[in-house]
Amino acid sequence: MNNIKENVKRILEEVPENVIVIAATKGRSVEEIKEAIDAGIKVIGENYVQEAEGKFKEIGRTVNWHLIGNLQTNKVKKALNIFDCIETVDSFGLAKEIDKYAGKKGIIFPVFIEINSGREPQKSGVFPEDTEKFIIELSELKNIKIEGLMTMGPLVDNPEDIRHYFRLTKELFDKIKEKKLPNVKMEYLSMGMSDTYKVAIEEGANIIRIGSIIFGYRR
Ligand SMILES: *Cc1c(COP(=O)(O)O)cnc(C)c1O
Repeated sequence: MNNIKENVKRILEEVPENVIVIAATKGRSVEEIKEAIDAGIKVIGENYVQEAEGKFKEIGRTVNWHLIGNLQTNKVKKALNIFDCIETVDSFGLAKEIDKYAGKKGIIFPVFIEINSGREPQKSGVFPEDTEKFIIELSELKNIKIEGLMTMGPLVDNPEDIRHYFRLTKELFDKIKEKKLPNVKMEYLSMGMSDTYKVAIEEGANIIRIGSIIFGYRR
């Protein structure tokens, strides 16, 4: 039985109006994604450029596209043809490459900075204590605009256990917002997934990225 539409409607009704629900669609078919869109999803989150390319050809700009997975610098050019925002900027080299291609296209491209809020060595993202300095470095790039922060946080069994990491990311968000840096407009805080979005919203997220509770848990 297919409940995608019901799932989307229930979630959209439940979350506050200011919160954007991104459908995290890695591994999901165009057909599934279209159902989610029919039910009111306005932003798609994809993890891989190549996978997104195929889906984008069929779905197009009826929705906004966010890249929520890691991006290699050699895929930036392709990514900019699909995505409206890259949520996972965590190195100057990547930011510089986005800036370069955005410049060639004559656009100012929105990015979020990914925060490694759990300071996990194997994970991507900027450590919290390095974030401010990193953003100041990036603010010299004129063809990108830093519009927010994104974090995954550590994998937890109990959603309560991730609250600390979301809170820390929100504090960072507020602190950077106050600085009013050039090319930085801290507007979006992207955190929370299927099992943790409620905690994320309580801690100030205005973007949540939801896959499993829309499309079903994978076995
Ligand atoms: C898959 C994914 C999500 C959604 O995860 P669910 O637990 O299925 O809701 C959110 N963010 C990122 C970066 C993802 O890769």
